[in-house]
Amino acid sequence: MSKSTYDILIIGGGPAGSSLAWALRDSGLNIATMDKQVFPRQKVCAGWVTPAVMQELEIDLADYSQHRVLQPITGFKISQLGQQQLRSHYAGEPVSYGIRRIEFDDYLLQRCGAEILPAQAFKDMQKTDEGWSVNGQIKTRLVVGAGGHFCPVARAIGSKGISELAVAAKEIEFEMTPEQKAACTIEAEIPELFFTPDLLGYGWVFRKGDYLNIGLGREDKHKLSSHVENFCAYLIKQGKIPAGTPQKLQGHAYLLYNHSRRKVIDENVLLIGDSAGLAYPKSGEGIRPAVESALLAAETIKNCHSEYSKAKLADYVTRLEQRFGERQPKPDIMEKLPLGLKKLFASRLMQTQWFTKNIVTDKWFLQTHVPPLLSQ
Ligand SMILES: Cc1cc2nc3c(=O)[nH]c(=O)nc-3n(C[C@H](O)[C@H](O)[C@H](O)COP(=O)(O)OP(=O)(O)OC[C@H]3O[C@@H](n4cnc5c(N)ncnc54)[C@H](O)[C@@H]3O)c2cc1C
Repeated sequence: MSKSTYDILIIGGGPAGSSLAWALRDSGLNIATMDKQVFPRQKVCAGWVTPAVMQELEIDLADYSQHRVLQPITGFKISQLGQQQLRSHYAGEPVSYGIRRIEFDDYLLQRCGAEILPAQAFKDMQKTDEGWSVNGQIKTRLVVGAGGHFCPVARAIGSKGISELAVAAKEIEFEMTPEQKAACTIEAEIPELFFTPDLLGYGWVFRKGDYLNIGLGREDKHKLSSHVENFCAYLIKQGKIPAGTPQKLQGHAYLLYNHSRRKVIDENVLLIGDSAGLAYPKSGEGIRPAVESALLAAETIKNCHSEYSKAKLADYVTRLEQRFGERQPKPDIMEKLPLGLKKLFASRLMQTQWFTKNIVTDKWFLQTHVPPLLSQ
């Protein structure tokens, strides 16, 4: 039977929630992580992580890969849908990894050091003198919203009704049969990315060991299913995916950092990860910002000395802005161009090795210019 009073109650046991608990494991604080699901659980995701995440979370790769998929990535094939693919390759250490979220999230949660409250959905919270009472049962000084894009804590502090431009995405991951493995032309170390000509999103095919992950995300949920169908038909025509590939993709959504309008703190409340809307604008990578927001939140929490007023938590907002920049930066030269011209430029640029390697992969996807956030 779980206790009913905690210093910190984290709602959501995904990478954001488990990373926060892990970062506070030696703080002496009494922490619980509540999730509506029982782990290991499925999560709609391509499952691509940058090495910075592994360093920030001090993951021992040899230990991790003993019983889990850890697919090294050494390059990418990039193209605009329908155009020639350009291949970039990196010598030396892997530039990214493919993980399966069902394994990765469970690994992080089990080692995080907090009490885990499985199969318990957050329903509501009532203010108390010391903090909050959650679901009428659990008392806590600080509620952390880590419940992903549809986080109920974010809604409770006002995200409901805000007009937000979210990425809508669909994905499938399945274990290939021996015949499919033999027929699959996707190289495991080289994920393939296909940008849509209207510049609103991209699709991917990503082989991780025996698993194949296919998906497409767009900053426009309109007709998402037909975009996905067209993409899959294109992949079949190109011989990219093997016969018998399941066609039932699962959908989910998330916010890019520059499109989120959510407030991330309130009295005795703080949001991290997708709940706060933090994914990188160009790539849609959300795991690294989820982890980093948790590490930043942990620093703020340690400095609060158990007094989690909005004024004290404001330090977290400053840390987020220092790390991720302004939420609504001024448009760059490319963004100021008329759409027709922008599409033309993009199409030309996507056919140059320089742009696909130095800008698309190095800058947008690998963020090689941003060092990992390591604890001091
Ligand atoms: C199709 C797709 C592909 C993606 N691919 C990538 C990728 O390759 N790499 C990458 O970095 N990012 C990717 N992302 C983004 C990434 O998945 C998210 O940014 C990341 O999962 C955010 O982590 P989180 O911990 O904030 O939230 P989540 O991982 O969503 O975890 C939230 C948790 O909260 C729980 N929860 C929700 N509601 C409640 C409730 N009421 N009560 C209790 N618990 C609750 C959920 O069960 C869940 O376990 C992708 C997203 C999509 C949709």
